[in-house]
Amino acid sequence: MSHTLNHSDPNHVAQQYSSTQGIQHEEPLLFEYHHDAPESIQLPGVEGALSADLTRFSRSTPANIPSLSEPETVRHFVRMSQWNHGIETGFYPLGSCTMKYNPRVNEKVANLPGLAHIHPDQPEDSVQGVLKLLYETQGWLGEIVGLPYVTLQPAAGAHGELTGLMMIRACLDARGEHQRRTVLVPDSAHGTNPASAALCGMHTIELKSGADGRIDLDELKAHLNHETAALMMTNPNTAGAFESDVKEICQLVHDAGGLVYGDGANLNALVGVARPGDMGIDCLHINVHKTFSTPHGGGGPGAGPVAVNATLKDYLPVPHIVKDADAYHLKTCSDTSIGSVLGSIGQSGVLIRANAYIAAYGRQNLHKIAEDAVLNANYVLHRLKDAYHVPFDGICKHECLLTDAIQNKHGIKTLDIAKRLIDLGFHPMTIYFPLIVHGAMLIEPTETESRATLDSFCDAMLEIATQCQAGETELLHQAPVKPFRRRLDETQAARKPVLAWPT
Ligand SMILES: *Cc1c(COP(=O)(O)O)cnc(C)c1O
Repeated sequence: MSHTLNHSDPNHVAQQYSSTQGIQHEEPLLFEYHHDAPESIQLPGVEGALSADLTRFSRSTPANIPSLSEPETVRHFVRMSQWNHGIETGFYPLGSCTMKYNPRVNEKVANLPGLAHIHPDQPEDSVQGVLKLLYETQGWLGEIVGLPYVTLQPAAGAHGELTGLMMIRACLDARGEHQRRTVLVPDSAHGTNPASAALCGMHTIELKSGADGRIDLDELKAHLNHETAALMMTNPNTAGAFESDVKEICQLVHDAGGLVYGDGANLNALVGVARPGDMGIDCLHINVHKTFSTPHGGGGPGAGPVAVNATLKDYLPVPHIVKDADAYHLKTCSDTSIGSVLGSIGQSGVLIRANAYIAAYGRQNLHKIAEDAVLNANYVLHRLKDAYHVPFDGICKHECLLTDAIQNKHGIKTLDIAKRLIDLGFHPMTIYFPLIVHGAMLIEPTETESRATLDSFCDAMLEIATQCQAGETELLHQAPVKPFRRRLDETQAARKPVLAWPT
């Protein structure tokens, strides 16, 4: 069991019910409320006799239905909702995820009835407003990344990867190069990259990163050949480092007859400052829920528009929004398109929030997103670099990478540091990613955090480093000690999940 209540001892359970941290309440499972009370829910009896067929199914024991009143039920769910952490509760330094504040204006706009209450199958002339807004978004995204042809359809970054690779494959097939089925993926890449390549029927080859955490040109050259379909690259990469050889890398891939797919999850470091299209990348997905602020904790919702250059534009999915002299239309067919990857035009609510975020900054100020995000990450790096091991030298982009190498000497691991952060009031950073670094801790503050917030986070990290030094090993191994739920046996929970309430 992944929770700590002792079911055999009702007094113990009763004690747990009334346990609080201030006015934040411990909350048992619904089934644990009044678990020995007679059933309070009275179901009406069945009228008439049951047919013989149904009698076989009649219960011999009462149904195990929780006995709760309406206010108890409401409190149960609201109390648990108060245990959630979100960007509106506190700092959320998850690296690679870009957990930035979602301004209220985004919600206001996305909830306008004319945008929120329409149906995907409404006639075009009744949805000209939303088509205009999405057409504008398409154009802005294309301009921001320097790749002018954009599909809004994919539902997330990973889905954008698949869509982009399908376009690349269609393009290579049209050139008669059916043997090009290999995708080169650096070992620092996000796991979705090789997964998307496999889903697209491609074979992946992992490129070993150089000592500086960047793509190694010799390693790349050694693997480029007539079977190369594409290189998937993330720039800045997941170690927070800018791939400064990006132009040469793209040239090498193009000379070998392949195309370059850009994983745009780290666009936050470049937006308004540099454009992947200008660096030689052919195709890029944009995680608008990251860079352009839609909240996406817990796995959704998202959108992963894909922007391409002229080489790939004929393969864009349909429907696609086009404009003629006096109206916006959905172009629904094309001989060369890869087809449709999602119903209708995409996740319009997420795309509208992205439009609002971009518009709020404006063309002249978009660069402040990247500049402030990079400054914040370097501030954190600077404050922590003596207490924690920094695997790659130099300034970072929008996220900074540390490891637990110093704390290892005291028997403390990344997991212990992350758990202890919870006791000190912070959501942990991303841990054990990227895989190329042992005991990785990836911290991404984003542009929305103040210096005071960054300072208190850094103070907490420094306090943990001091606790390690002082030999408080036991405490660090037990952390978190403050929340209602303590450290879980995550391996056990994953391997042997308890999915039903034991009766
Ligand atoms: C988030 C992320 C992805 C996947 O994007 P989703 O929108 O979560 O599907 C891919 N690559 C990197 C580097 C990421 O951070």
